[in-house]
Formats: sequence, C-alpha cells, structure tokens
Amino acid sequence: MLVVEDERDIREVLRRYLERAGLSVLTTGTGAEAIRLLASAPPDLVVLDLGLPDVDGTDVLREIHAAGHPPVVVLTARSTVEDRIHGLQLGADDYVTKPFSPAEVVLRVQAVLHRSGGQPSEGGPVTYGEGRLRIDEPRHEAWLDGRSLDLTPTEWGLLTAVAAAPGRVFSRYELVNRIRGYEYAGYERTIDSHVKNLRRKLGPSGADLLETELGVGYRLSVKRDDHQ
Ligand code: CA
Repeated sequence: MLVVEDERDIREVLRRYLERAGLSVLTTGTGAEAIRLLASAPPDLVVLDLGLPDVDGTDVLREIHAAGHPPVVVLTARSTVEDRIHGLQLGADDYVTKPFSPAEVVLRVQAVLHRSGGQPSEGGPVTYGEGRLRIDEPRHEAWLDGRSLDLTPTEWGLLTAVAAAPGRVFSRYELVNRIRGYEYAGYERTIDSHVKNLRRKLGPSGADLLETELGVGYRLSVKRDDHQ
C-alpha cells in the first residue's frame, strides 16, 4: 500500500503502525511522486493526505482512479460536512480527519481492505519460477533450488521487495523505501552493492533471478507460481 503524506512525522508514524499490522508500506511526501508510483506500481490501497504542497490532493485522487482504482482512505484537516461529502464523491472509501490516532487509521485501512477483498495473505511459503525460489515471509526464510539462503536483513528486504511484484521493475528509491522503512537519499547508492551480494548468495544458477533494468532498477525475473 502507498501512504501519501507531506508531514514526515505523521508519515513515519503511520508507516510504523501499518507495518506492525502486517502491511507492506511504501511512502511518499509529494503528490508528484505519488502519481509516478501509482503509474509504475498500482498499490492495493492508498492513504492520501488531501493537503499536499505540490499537487492538489483531489488531482491525486483522479490519478488513483486512472491507476486501476485501488481503495483510498483520505486524510484531511478539512472537517466540514461539505468537504467530507466532496471527498467521498471523488471516490474516497473512507475519511479520517486530523488530528487522528494512528491506530484509528490502521482500523480504517483494515476495514477498507477487508471490504475490497484485498486483505494480504496470512503467510505460508510462496514459490516462484516453478518452485525454484521459495519465500516464507512469516518465518523469514528463503530457499533457492532447495538450498536455504543465509541473507542479511537488507538482502532479505531486497528479495521480498522485488518478489512482491514479480516482473515489475523497482527503482532504487522504492527499494530503499521498502527496505529501510524510511527515505534516506544517500542509501540509494549502496543498493547496487547489496544487489551484488544477494546475487552472489543466489549463486551462478540463481543470479539471473534478480535482473537489472539499466538506469531504472531491479526486478525478479521469475513468475509467482499459480497454484497458491
Ligand atoms: Ca498536509
């Protein structure tokens, strides 16, 4: 899911609470970046602050519709009945007025996900590439061709990030965002060396699982197996 909120403290507290609830969270502080992410990686849900510095939140809402219409929980300081109705007319599925408790946002998000049938799977191993790669997220274990992989937390984060959407290219920004749980520009440059280490651990037969898209980022080259 994607959290669009320009106030860093709110953004990070939301991320903490949502991740604690078992959700995979990508964040951004600008409408422009949100629109870019919506196009490249349609999320299963968007938490959207309507009061953004660069783009009007309602314009982002329109882009969300264009991006396959994932459910939206709107955050806003506007609390009049007219604004609330306006937000719902624009397609928001729920509405939280600031100041809010992060726990309330989590409850609303879970309710909306439940209604939309988009509740994330509860676990158990998932396989890719006809069983070659096996990832058990709850147990924090991964295997390649039956061999257990001994990964650092960053390598684990990289692998599970690209495995979340096989075939899709993840930019370094997105990978850092997912792995570190916050935005840290300097870290983007070190992603390449972590990818190199991860490929080494995947071994000669598995290094091609993590493909480079030149100038863009990285992707998992194998598909998620159907029967799960
Ligand atoms: Ca704001």
